[in-house]
Amino acid sequence: MRSRTVAKVEAMMKVFVDPDLCQRHGECVAEVPEVFALPEDGPVRVLRDEPPVKLRAKVADALRYCPTGAISLSDPAKES
Ligand code: SF4
Repeated sequence: MRSRTVAKVEAMMKVFVDPDLCQRHGECVAEVPEVFALPEDGPVRVLRDEPPVKLRAKVADALRYCPTGAISLSDPAKES
C-alpha cells in the first residue's frame, strides 16, 4: 500500500512541454519514453504529465538534456 507521503510527492510534479520551443530532438523520449512521445509530426507529447516518483529522476534528466529548454516542471498545488 502506498503511503500518503509518496502520493503527495508524486502530486508535486507536473510536466509541460512548450510546443513553440520543441524542435523534435527526441532526447526526452530517449530518456523517459513512459512520459514523452514523439508523433510523426508536431512537437513532443506528454503522455503522463504527473509521472510517478520512480520516473522523476529520468524526467529531470530529460529536462536537463532538452536542447531548447522546452520542458518545464511545476507544482500543481501552486497553480490556480
Ligand atoms: S528534447 Fe526538448 S526539443 Fe527535443 S523533443 Fe523533447 S521537448 Fe522537444
